[in-house]
Amino acid sequence: MHPELEAQLGRCRDLPTPPGVALRVIELAQDPAADLTATAEAISLDPALSARILRIANSPLFASASRRSSATVSQALALLGLNAALSLALGFSLAATMRGGDQVAAERERFWRRSVLGAMASRLLGEQAGLERLEELMLAGLLQDIGALALMQALPERYAELGGGPAGVPALERERALFGADHAEVGAWLAARWNLPAYLQRLIARHECGEDDDAALVCVAGSGLLADLWLGSGGPEALRGIAAALERRTGLSGAEIARLMERMSASAPELGTLFDVRLEHPRQVHELRQQALELMVVRNLVEVRDAADARREIDALKTRTRDLSEQVRRDPLTGAYNRLQLEEVLQREFEEALRCKRPLSIAFVDLDDFKRINDRHGHLVGDQVLQEFCRCLGRQLRQTDLLARYGGEEFLIVLSNCDADAARATLERILAEISSTPMALVDGAPLYITFSAGLACQGGGDQFASAEDLLKAADEALYGAKRDGRNQVAPSTC
Ligand code: GH3
Ligand code: MG
Ligand code: MG
Repeated sequence: MHPELEAQLGRCRDLPTPPGVALRVIELAQDPAADLTATAEAISLDPALSARILRIANSPLFASASRRSSATVSQALALLGLNAALSLALGFSLAATMRGGDQVAAERERFWRRSVLGAMASRLLGEQAGLERLEELMLAGLLQDIGALALMQALPERYAELGGGPAGVPALERERALFGADHAEVGAWLAARWNLPAYLQRLIARHECGEDDDAALVCVAGSGLLADLWLGSGGPEALRGIAAALERRTGLSGAEIARLMERMSASAPELGTLFDVRLEHPRQVHELRQQALELMVVRNLVEVRDAADARREIDALKTRTRDLSEQVRRDPLTGAYNRLQLEEVLQREFEEALRCKRPLSIAFVDLDDFKRINDRHGHLVGDQVLQEFCRCLGRQLRQTDLLARYGGEEFLIVLSNCDADAARATLERILAEISSTPMALVDGAPLYITFSAGLACQGGGDQFASAEDLLKAADEALYGAKRDGRNQVAPSTC
C-alpha cells in the first residue's frame, strides 16, 4: 500500500478499532494454549458483550446447529466457538465506533448494515456449500469491506467523491485511482494491524478477486452480493445483474438463492438487535422470494430463448444447406433440373424399373425453330420463353416426374412407372397445352411455340441395355419428329 495513504490511515484517530476486550479475544483466539475458559473470562469483563454473546448463541441463526440453549458465556462459547466470539466482539465494538453524526454517518450506517448481512450471508453460503468453520466465514463476511470503512473514516471528503456502488461499496478501480489502493488492500492492512488471523487477512485481501478455486473465498465474495440482493438497493436491472453475478460466483440456482434470502429474513431481526443495526427491509419476505423466483424465471426464459435461437439457427442452416444442394442440381435460368441431376436420376430410375419390372418412359423435347425466336425478338424474349415453357410443363407433370434441361432449348422428361401409351398421351396433352398457351408477350402480342418430342420406353415391348441406350433411342425418335415436320410426339421405333 502507498506509504502516504498508510500514514494518513495511521494518523486517523477514528479508525475502527477493536476495544480492549475484543483485542484480548483476538489474542486468545490465536493462542493454541488458550482455552474457552480464558476467553469466557475475558468476555465476562464486558457485561454488554456477554449478554449479546448469550443472545446470539440462542438465536435461530445458531440454534439450527444445536438445539441446546446456552445459559453461561462458557456454554455459549462452547457452542459458537472462539471465532464466533471473536466475530461478535469485533462486530459489536466496530458497531460502537459507527455512531456519530458527521457527514458520512448515513453512509457508514448503510455500510455497517451490509456488513452484518454479509456476515450472515457468508455463514449461510458456507453452510449451503457444506463447509466447516462457519464462524470464520461469518467473521470474514463481516470484515470483508472494513477497508472501505477505514477510508471513509480517515478521508471522509475524498471518500464522498467516490460515490457508492449499489450498497455503498464503490468500484475498486475508482478507489485505486483516488487513493492508490482499494478497500480490499486497506482492509487487509487493517486486519494485519489488528493482528487478525492469517486466514482472515487473506480472505479480506482477496474477496473482490473473483477466484473460484477457494470455496471459502467464494462464500465471502458471494456474501456481499447476497447482502446487496437482500437489501434490494438499485433498480430491477441492477438487482438482476447482482443475482446473475451471484449465480455465477456461487453456482447456486435462483431457488437456492431465494431460500437463503428467506433464511436471512428469518434471522435479520435477531441479528439486527445484536449488532445494533436496523435490518428490517421494506420488502416483505414473500416479495423477496418473488423477486428471486422472478430472476430464476428470467434466467430460465433466457435459457429457453437461447435454446430456441440455437434451434432456429440450426433449422435455418439446414434449410440453407438444402437450398444450396438443390441449387447445384438446378438450371439457374429455368429452375429445371440440370444434366448432372438428370444423369443421376435417370440411372437410378432405370435400375429401379428393371428391378421392379416397372415401365419407365423418357421424352426428349426440343423447341421448334427456337433460333428464329431469338433472331426475331432477341435473347431476352428467348429466355422468357424457356422459363415460361418450363413453368407450364411443371404444371402438367406429376410429382414423381422429372424435368431436366439437357442443354439449350432441349429438355428431357423422365416419366417413372409410365408405359409407352401413357407417355405418348401425356406428351400429346402437354404439346396441346403448350402450343395454345402464350409463352411471352411481344409488343403486346402473344408468342406461341411448339415442340417436337421423341419418346422411348423401357419395359413393355422395348428392353434397353442401359439408360444411355434409352436416351439415345429417345434422341433418335426426336430426330424423326423433326424430320416429319416438327410439332409432334414420335415414339421410338427400336
Ligand atoms: P429446330 O426446330 O431444328 O430445333 O430449330 P432450332 O432453331 O430450335 O434449333 P437450333 O439448334 O438451330 O437453335 C437453338 C437455339 O437455341 C440456338 C441458341 O442460340 C438458342 N439457345 C440455346 N440456349 C439458349 C438460352 O439459354 N437462351 C436463349 N435465348 N437462347 C438459347
Ligand atoms: Mg430446337
Ligand atoms: Mg436444338
